[in-house]
Amino acid sequence: MKKELICIVCPNSCELAAEFKDGKIEVTGALCKRGYQYAEQEMTNPMRTIATSVLVENGELPLALSGSQNRFLNPVFLMS
Ligand code: SF4
Repeated sequence: MKKELICIVCPNSCELAAEFKDGKIEVTGALCKRGYQYAEQEMTNPMRTIATSVLVENGELPLALSGSQNRFLNPVFLMS
């Protein structure tokens, strides 16, 4: 099954298409090898971070930034 991706490695945001063929991952649309590496990781081991904000009670500011320090396997990938 072909998967369409947007490479997030640099601001070019190349539109990639990746699919498994004969035991390998075939990637099209990447302008450089980093896009191939990104697509391969998205197909086999997609990692994510969480960034959010939390309400602060009695603080100087109403919100504080919060996020995960480590990357973790995309939970949607685990369910598929
Ligand atoms: S494929 Fe290369 S040029 Fe394109 S967005 Fe990814 S890193 Fe940038």
